[in-house]
Amino acid sequence: MAKFLITTVDPRTDEVVPLHYDNSDSSLTDLHGQSLVRTVDASLRSTPASAPVTSKDTPLGKTSPRVLKISLGLSCNYACEYCSQRFVARNVDTNPEDVDGFLASLKDWVMSPPEAIEFWGGEPLVYIKTLRPLAQALREKYPEARFSVITNGSLLSPSTNQWLDDLGFTVSVSHDGPGQHVRGPDPLAEPDSRAAILDLYRRLAPKERFSFNAMLNRENQSRAAIQSFFVELTGDSDVHIGEGGFVDAYDSGGISQSLRPEEFHSFRRQAFHDIRNGKADRIASVRDRVTSFVNSLRFKRPASSLGQKCGMDRHDSIAVDLKGNVLTCQNVSATALAPNGESHRIGHTSQLDQVALRTATHWSHRSECPNCPMLQICKGACMFLEGPLWEVSCNNAYSDALPIFAAGIEFLTGLVPVYIEGDLPDARKDVFGFVHPTPADGSHKAKPFPIPVVAA
Ligand code: SF4
Ligand code: SF4
Repeated sequence: MAKFLITTVDPRTDEVVPLHYDNSDSSLTDLHGQSLVRTVDASLRSTPASAPVTSKDTPLGKTSPRVLKISLGLSCNYACEYCSQRFVARNVDTNPEDVDGFLASLKDWVMSPPEAIEFWGGEPLVYIKTLRPLAQALREKYPEARFSVITNGSLLSPSTNQWLDDLGFTVSVSHDGPGQHVRGPDPLAEPDSRAAILDLYRRLAPKERFSFNAMLNRENQSRAAIQSFFVELTGDSDVHIGEGGFVDAYDSGGISQSLRPEEFHSFRRQAFHDIRNGKADRIASVRDRVTSFVNSLRFKRPASSLGQKCGMDRHDSIAVDLKGNVLTCQNVSATALAPNGESHRIGHTSQLDQVALRTATHWSHRSECPNCPMLQICKGACMFLEGPLWEVSCNNAYSDALPIFAAGIEFLTGLVPVYIEGDLPDARKDVFGFVHPTPADGSHKAKPFPIPVVAA
């Protein structure tokens, strides 16, 4: 765990103000140890539980699921450039005949109704003949569970939309807005799928059950442009945009869509500019992560309570296929191996007490994360990546988290971090590329503001 000396600048006066940030107890103080944040009184905060720490040698078990992720298979009618599933070894696909056996097994391992059930592909609507009877039966069995599905939107139709609406689904359409051409085919370019997507939007958006999910990559760096795209498409300034973070690198396509070192600073400046000027306020990864980071400082959230960003290292988050195989997560298959050589099939629902997540590494078992100032925002990138793919994903995640970090600190103190001193690589210290470095002795005047306006 680590403490950092942060050089900040007051954009109203150009005054340079040094402060300390500690990622282990989420304290933000002046150099005399006085808190710069009005923290919530200790008597009013509950102590958060420690997160489970999983690794190959200390595998995590699973319990009856609070969040149940059902993988229908990895088939997809698209082949997107940076898809996390693109090179995952495929199972024999599941089919409608698997549904009855799966449903019959639930009584043995689902002890109380799940809060949320997610239906995953590949492209889940490729499996509509399986999805319909499965979701129908699960809706009867668990009437209160939140249902969700993420689709590329290309196979939506009026009758499928009606069914998704009737069953209470929340639907996310994966689409990168102005960067969709980088990702893959564009369902909005086809009149039928465009009409079906917008029909579903009109049905579900007023019920807050629809989002467009977009990802950033090196050819799609502007959240402001993404937000403008969807506001214009829907005519709705309150459009929900899910995800909105920078891609992880799962293969060579993901690496080629990752930031190059010479792009780190310009990306961070652009992202901070978009966030600071309210041009990314409809995007979940901005809204949720700024709120979460601000609250980490207000509630002094200990790092020990941090699980991985996706939550698949929780005991009660389970990904399964219809054959009952328990998987690392919904993006892998029972026949795939993780980078550490362990099978992504981590057990079977018939022996839930034997499930052991050996494919993942909690951030506390990585050498870099405990010493990273972005830990409270990033939470360790993808838990099963290793080697060069993890390093590239970590670099993306660092640059992605820094503008959130800066925005949260400015929101609370009026001060913008420009330089971070501590046990981290030199290349990570200069936040926006304004200083090399700015001395943090309080006497030095730097003038990095106004933040250069980056064309949207
Ligand atoms: S940016 Fe990298 S080192 Fe920092 S918490 Fe994320 S994955 Fe770990
Ligand atoms: S382990 Fe988590 S972050 Fe990694 S691919 Fe699976 S869901 Fe995504």
